[in-house]
Amino acid sequence: MRISIKTMPVHADGSICEHPTAPTGQPRDPATCTGRRGYVATCSGSPHCTWTGERRGMRTLADDDRKAHRDHHAQPPVPAQT
Ligand SMILES: [Zn+2]
Ligand SMILES: [Zn+2]
Repeated sequence: MRISIKTMPVHADGSICEHPTAPTGQPRDPATCTGRRGYVATCSGSPHCTWTGERRGMRTLADDDRKAHRDHHAQPPVPAQT
């Protein structure tokens, strides 16, 4: 199974922002989007894993969380691949 861990922008309240933004980084529709205030790494690699990292001010920090979590998935023994 492929692990899918993404770095996503989040709002001030920590919810993931999937709204369109202008090239300036401002929300295109301020009525629906409060703006982006950070990033989290979030895992959708398995139905058992709904891990989401802490909110980070910088994307690179969330990327570090993402890499660490991917290593976490690599730890347990996995069935031999043929
Ligand atoms: Zn948004
Ligand atoms: Zn995970």
